[in-house]
Amino acid sequence: MKRIPPLVAAIFLSFTALAQYADMRVGLLRDSPTRHIMVMGDGGPLTVWVDGKQVAELAVSDGLVLKYTESGIHANSLKLDLTARKSMTFRSPAGRGFRLRNMSPKTRERSYPGSLHVSTAGGNFLMVATVPLEEYVAGVVQAEAGKGHWLEYYKLQSVSCRTYALANKRRHAGDGFEVCDGTHCQVFQGRNQQDSIRQAVALTRDLVVVDSHIQLIHATFHSNCGGETTNAEDVWSKSEPYLVSTIDTFCLREPHAVWQQSVPRTKWLNYLHKEYGVNTDDSNVVASVTEHVPECRELFLANISPEVSLIRLRRDFHLRSAYFSVHPEGDMVVLTGKGFGHGVGLCQEGAMHMARNGYTYTDILHHYFTNVHLVKLQNLDFFRDDGL
Ligand SMILES: [Zn+2]
Ligand SMILES: [Zn+2]
Repeated sequence: MKRIPPLVAAIFLSFTALAQYADMRVGLLRDSPTRHIMVMGDGGPLTVWVDGKQVAELAVSDGLVLKYTESGIHANSLKLDLTARKSMTFRSPAGRGFRLRNMSPKTRERSYPGSLHVSTAGGNFLMVATVPLEEYVAGVVQAEAGKGHWLEYYKLQSVSCRTYALANKRRHAGDGFEVCDGTHCQVFQGRNQQDSIRQAVALTRDLVVVDSHIQLIHATFHSNCGGETTNAEDVWSKSEPYLVSTIDTFCLREPHAVWQQSVPRTKWLNYLHKEYGVNTDDSNVVASVTEHVPECRELFLANISPEVSLIRLRRDFHLRSAYFSVHPEGDMVVLTGKGFGHGVGLCQEGAMHMARNGYTYTDILHHYFTNVHLVKLQNLDFFRDDGL
């Protein structure tokens, strides 16, 4: 076989690496299955492909209504009447994207970058948008982070969302797309409209976060850590070298820094006795479980035996966090807690506080994630050879 010159091989490899990262295939409107939609161009016409063949153009002012039928897809507009056995694809020659509306149940129209492929699966439409990665990231940051944040916070969100997207490209491997548009993956409601997000995505273009083994990290986050983040293994039993407990003073005066909840004393003691076999006839034990102030984040309640998991208490009593003290008050025990959420990884309110106070997004990343690096995604394959 003819030997490929190294330079040609290198160029070829860098192109395949780029192609691999260029687009995201996103399953749309997965939370409300539908058999009835409307598709329009977004400020430009769309070419329409039926069962793989280009057959028509949808004018910019025209809306095509697609209905699921037993024999495939039937589509009507002012000027078009089309039937597909398997699929319809909509492409925007000018790269303007498309607009999509669920007609039943009726939803607000959304504007998307990229192209749309509609087929049938499981009795409903399967709608998959092929979206340029950077536009997908901007849309996710807009949907997930919301309005009114500092640029450094949006930059942090941009690298986190990009990293998550690429680390989870196989999450829906059996469904015909890569990521869904709901909270199961990352919320994506179409094109970003905010200038500051557009700027943050552009300024962090192609950057992703990797650990010391050059693996894309799981950029886990929560609302407020209460002053100390948690080790991943303490919550999910699997450790990650970058998800390590760290002291955080940035979130202490933020909106979800403290909480309080009262529980009837009998309910509290009955639960501990029934679920864990705690000896509630022993006055010393009762004193410990009704009056305790942790010095730092702990895993078990009040150092008693048998051990009572604070994470399970959080779940069973619907507490904001597993980081709290206990005081008796009449017939009640009062739980006074710190933070909101599981406490692993990035503390959002602490990160917002840091961004507001002049820290850069890389400062914030290194504060919450241990031994991580920012790399251009095109360079990932230089450092490792097992692909994504
Ligand atoms: Zn998903
Ligand atoms: Zn925090």
